[in-house]
Amino acid sequence: MASASSLPPVPPHLAHQFSGQKNLAGAATVKKRPFPIHPKPEILYTATPLKLAKESPEARTTLWYHRKQKEKEAAGEYVKRNKQQRSNRTYTCSKCSELRLPLGHTQYYGSWFCMKTATQTFEEWRQEKEEERRKHKENAKQ
Ligand SMILES: [Zn+2]
Repeated sequence: MASASSLPPVPPHLAHQFSGQKNLAGAATVKKRPFPIHPKPEILYTATPLKLAKESPEARTTLWYHRKQKEKEAAGEYVKRNKQQRSNRTYTCSKCSELRLPLGHTQYYGSWFCMKTATQTFEEWRQEKEEERRKHKENAKQ
């Protein structure tokens, strides 16, 4: 290896004028890697994948919500029902305990006319209900 003294003299016009800057030769250190190198993932994990404990198709938050609702109900608190439960349009008739289908069941405001169990015709029933409603309205005005 050639030392500085063995080199031919540098011509004056090429000589670099050092401006008092510190010679940093040899001062640089080997930078450490910011992150350690991890072994390949295949080594860390076994070949059999971990099975997720899934007992219900519902999300954990949904289950939690339902549990909270039941707790509230048990405590006698008002529970706001999920709207999805209401979207189910198949109601059962309280009179004939069959599905309250349009055929044989007619609604007049809050009341349902059930053909199967009715002791009067629909017209009679309807007139009765109309009368009830009219009376109720009059009472509400007073
Ligand atoms: Zn019915």
